[in-house]
Amino acid sequence: MRGKKVLVRVDFNVPVKDGEVTDDTRIRRALPTIRHLLSEGARPALISHLGRPKGEPDPKYAMDPVATRLEELLGGHVKKLDTAVGPEVGEALDGLDGGVVLLENSRFYPGETENDAGFAGELAAPFEAYVNDAFGAAHRAHATTVGVAERLPTAAGLLMEAEIDYLDGVLRDPERPFVAILGGAKVSDKLGVIESLLGVADSLLIGGAMCFTFFRAQGYEIGNSLVEDDYLEEAKRLMQEAGDRLVLPVDVVVADAIEEGSETQTVRVSGGIPSGKMGLDIGPESVDLFRGRISDARTIFWNGPMGVFEVDAFARGTEGVAGAVAEASDGGATSVIGGGDSVAAVNKLGLDDRMGHISTGGGASLEYVEGKELPGVAVLPDK
Ligand code: ADP
Ligand code: MG
Repeated sequence: MRGKKVLVRVDFNVPVKDGEVTDDTRIRRALPTIRHLLSEGARPALISHLGRPKGEPDPKYAMDPVATRLEELLGGHVKKLDTAVGPEVGEALDGLDGGVVLLENSRFYPGETENDAGFAGELAAPFEAYVNDAFGAAHRAHATTVGVAERLPTAAGLLMEAEIDYLDGVLRDPERPFVAILGGAKVSDKLGVIESLLGVADSLLIGGAMCFTFFRAQGYEIGNSLVEDDYLEEAKRLMQEAGDRLVLPVDVVVADAIEEGSETQTVRVSGGIPSGKMGLDIGPESVDLFRGRISDARTIFWNGPMGVFEVDAFARGTEGVAGAVAEASDGGATSVIGGGDSVAAVNKLGLDDRMGHISTGGGASLEYVEGKELPGVAVLPDK
């Protein structure tokens, strides 16, 4: 690596407000790869997308706030360029003395999302090697995830490697019992994930808004709760296929509206949800039921909050499950958390340090669990 110019695809798609990075998790997760390259004497240039600019420069999505935060975290020099291609890149790399170059937002170029051959060639031109550490972008066949990998000697970064190792471990050879927990908004989003997990998990615990589609399929009243009527048959089929491996909540917290301070009530699922009310969290009995399964688990995969955790009144279910996963992890169980909102919930609860592996790939981790081939992973060499 000594002296080598290495293009590193990172996932620095972080939230920015008023010119400041408000959550630097993704930057911190890329540090081991960056530090490793630096310790080997490489000259790294980092590239990422940020937000959704429309294939042209847009100051709102410039990487400058990321450069500031990265410099603080790295404790070393970050040379931020206002371009991702052209002679400036090679010149900046030649001038590097122990620091890193940060290239401009890859989505300032229309060739990025089109995986345009000309753009990928321009990107690759100044470099001798390519490292992909952006698992969160691996489900997209873009110039910075696929095009450059086809043009340069390629390796997976340390974060990419960890993401794949953890997910493969869970899906292929889990220590048993393997308990999967799914929640979040929609059955339709996660049908493939449910299907795939049912193929390997010993229990699948389902909470969140998606359980109401299952309840309606069972013939229970669900009031105004979120439901996907187009998926009732699928829900029935899944319940039949899974038998008692599929565990649904037995009680739910209901209210008139998703509002802080709205009057809540806990009702039994079998008694039906009163008309006009919405189910917004799993109830305490369900939390106990889920905790019991989780505490016996040796392997845990969790995606999707158990309720509307953003509102305190409906956060107890997610909190209870997160606590149980943390305790099981303390006791030596392997745990993998995936999904943007589930990870946000774990961070908000301050439990992130106690979890085994927190995936940085929201959509990518779900597609991986579904068994889809991720283009950005497919182009990496086998170990
Ligand atoms: P993830 O990002 O972890 O994959 P999703 O995006 O599928 O999770 O779902 C997260 C969203 O689901 C959260 O915004 C949460 O408020 C919402 N949600 C969870 N339970 C309910 C519910 N019972 N009713 C309405 N929304 C819910
Ligand atoms: Mg989400």
